[in-house]
Amino acid sequence: MKPETPRPVHLKDYRPPGYLIDKVDLDVCLDATRTRVRSRLAVRPNPDASGRRQALRLDGEHLELDEIKLDRKPLSKKDYNLTDTSLTLAKTPAAPFTLEIVTFVNPEANKALQGLYRTNDVYCTQCEAEGFRRITYFLDRPDALATYTVRIEADPREAPVLLSNGNLLERGTLAGGKRHYAVWRDPFPKPCYLFALVGGDLSPIASTFRTMSGRTVDLAIYVEHGKEERAAWAMDSLKRAMRWDEVRFGREYDLDVFNIVAVSDFNMGAMENKGLNVFNDRLILASPETATDTIFEAIESVVAHEYFHNWTGNRITCRDWFQLCLKEGLTVFRDQEFSGDERSATVQRILDVRRLKTHQFAEDAGPLAHPVRPETYIEINNFYTPTVYEKGAEVVRMLQTLLGRELFRSGMDLYFDRHDGEAATVEEFVRCFEDASGTDLTQFRLWYAQAGTPELVCALRYDKAKKRAELDVEQVLPATPGQAHKKPMHIPLKLGLLGANGHDVSLKLDSGEEPADGTLSVTKRKQTFRFVDVPSRPVPSLLRDFSAPVNVTIDLSDRDVELLMANDSDLFNRWQAANSFAMRTLVEIVGLLAKGKSASRGARYAKALGAAVLSDELEPAYRAELLKLPTQADIARVIGKNVDPALIHRAHKRLSGLIGRTLGAQLADLYAAMAEDGPFSPDATSAGRRALRNAALTLLTARASGPDLARLSKHYFKASNMTDRAQALFLLAAHGGKAGEQALADFHDRWKGDHVVIDAWFAAQAQSPLAGTLKRVEALTHHPLFALTAPNKVRALIGTFAAANPVQFNRPDGAGYAFIANHVLELDRLNPQIAARMLGAFRSWRALETGRRGQARKALQRVARAKNLSSDVQEIVSKMLEA
Ligand SMILES: [Zn+2]
Repeated sequence: MKPETPRPVHLKDYRPPGYLIDKVDLDVCLDATRTRVRSRLAVRPNPDASGRRQALRLDGEHLELDEIKLDRKPLSKKDYNLTDTSLTLAKTPAAPFTLEIVTFVNPEANKALQGLYRTNDVYCTQCEAEGFRRITYFLDRPDALATYTVRIEADPREAPVLLSNGNLLERGTLAGGKRHYAVWRDPFPKPCYLFALVGGDLSPIASTFRTMSGRTVDLAIYVEHGKEERAAWAMDSLKRAMRWDEVRFGREYDLDVFNIVAVSDFNMGAMENKGLNVFNDRLILASPETATDTIFEAIESVVAHEYFHNWTGNRITCRDWFQLCLKEGLTVFRDQEFSGDERSATVQRILDVRRLKTHQFAEDAGPLAHPVRPETYIEINNFYTPTVYEKGAEVVRMLQTLLGRELFRSGMDLYFDRHDGEAATVEEFVRCFEDASGTDLTQFRLWYAQAGTPELVCALRYDKAKKRAELDVEQVLPATPGQAHKKPMHIPLKLGLLGANGHDVSLKLDSGEEPADGTLSVTKRKQTFRFVDVPSRPVPSLLRDFSAPVNVTIDLSDRDVELLMANDSDLFNRWQAANSFAMRTLVEIVGLLAKGKSASRGARYAKALGAAVLSDELEPAYRAELLKLPTQADIARVIGKNVDPALIHRAHKRLSGLIGRTLGAQLADLYAAMAEDGPFSPDATSAGRRALRNAALTLLTARASGPDLARLSKHYFKASNMTDRAQALFLLAAHGGKAGEQALADFHDRWKGDHVVIDAWFAAQAQSPLAGTLKRVEALTHHPLFALTAPNKVRALIGTFAAANPVQFNRPDGAGYAFIANHVLELDRLNPQIAARMLGAFRSWRALETGRRGQARKALQRVARAKNLSSDVQEIVSKMLEA
């Protein structure tokens, strides 16, 4: 089947559905290659749809239609029109009617992993965004809300566990035990993208949760047999998330059961289907031996994220897919707040800002830039982006910053109150905050509509005689595709002024006003803020807590930056000062290397870093973040044009080595002091100690001396947990040689039987900056443990190479680009969604120096010319190549 030519969808074309489906009864007979789906729909014309009655057009793809009945009367072919993507009934009754449709689908053949498919002999579904149409004909749009009753029938030997959304109504056996069935009912109306079904031989770990009103909810996490113990952390995270949402947002869980299923092949991280979350098993399974602290943290945050969707996404859903940020940005904000409360708020903020800058700022600066709420798309799967998620979360955070926590909570309460059970829009969301606070947010709404990262160009003047400090702020809004000119935005700028002693000077504006929480509202293109009673020339600490997703430029001397690094009362900004000091040192080194000069810079930065890290009163996790240099991708983004990734790599290596040598003794002390002999605990404090120890190890290793390498090998072989072992594995693989090969061989032997853990072995090799890496990665695509049909394997090997190995992906001969282009084309035939993701690695190609830019263009043009591209890949590649 060939899909119709994809056409762009526009926000301005939104119309309510012509029909409503109030009730869905599904009867699914599971079979590996021929699953029968009988659907009974209670349909009525939508009284809110304007104009004369329309034809009833249902979406459907890759379906075999067997039978269709209207009010029990079979329809013949002349009564409907069937295409590859739809089923249309021209004539329907004016009164409510029942439509019965029987279709067959082939789960085994479904490698796109949308709709109903099989992974490791488990039947599972993924319907967001438009997968339900691959299960049955339906109004596959988020504003079509219905209640579902689902009967699942299967062979009990193949699928002893049968799950769907909602509460279990009944179960039983048939045909003398050769078949069995379960009936699930979800009383909450939902769009079909939240439908889920699972059938398989899985093993649950169970627990209960008592909600704030005293109801008991049965919790279960289903995993492969033998892996039950590895789900304990996910269960613990779930219960903490449920409690947190009650305390922080007053949200209680609403069904009698909450189930999570972990599957091996999954396009996304996890999916928030009502009462039945389906997870990529990488984000459920964890034990000290198998998972790094980063994975433990990710599990905690993703389990919480999907749970929080129960209110922000499920109870209140999106009117259309343009409103995706309404559920995603908001829910990411909620999970970030949860992680900040469970761990360290400052460290969490640093991690979130790092992620935002690396992924979202890079997206904003390239051909794929789009607003938080896009206005047009061809393939909605391409809009599950850092902009919608991470920047979307920042927009919600800014609302909280501008209104204060209390009024923000009132706005959220009003939103839950007013829109429960509805499919809402961004306008309706923002209006709740206006109504709850009496604040006009008209200008603020531009955050949803204007793409690109605003830049705040700042300058501070000080008048000693008048004891006045004046801060000039200019908003520069860079052009992005389709948006050449932009209106000034409403930007919360949180700041402090540090006196010569490093303490905060109290902030008083010349109007007499004291900015609440030190936050100024920047609303004009150019603005000056005058502070009075400033006793001496202050050092500005701008964008505290990263109060807006913007770039700030201000001319600060090394001494100013050192003062901030040592004293800023805002710990986030102390880190930000260190990070920008590192960045400007790195950019300087790159410039010198480009001119062929020796680049012995960075001594001053290293010294300031040593002083900052020394402080024992700072928690280890925070000190670990101080010790991490900006990534090579971040340096490339800051340089912005004529980027030479090889020079950046060299600069990064040099500065790491210099820090390792300058702070050697201190780092060695930290390495020793942070060692722990006791039993492993995944809590934030213990993880912080491991992070600091591993950050010290990384910088010590950068000296590349014999003893350093010996320490590293020992760190690998003596590791008692995966955090230490994986860190050493990646460093050793980057080093290569005998030590690298030994560690890789050992890791392979230990974990070849575990499809989750072995991914680190693929990734460590793909990330190695050594010259032979591409050849090695190519060979690994033929490794028996690798499969192009398994998204986790593709991400670990091909994705890591493309997105996390700047120096080898950007080889000057273009072989890295060609390799990715080949695999994008191959993947596109199996799983377009994953193929389009891989292609995203080219998002910054226009910023490269001429030679590489030419090679990248060649690779992209080759993809664009290929026949039968999916709409997913087609949309991304054409945007990449648009002038
Ligand atoms: Zn989500």
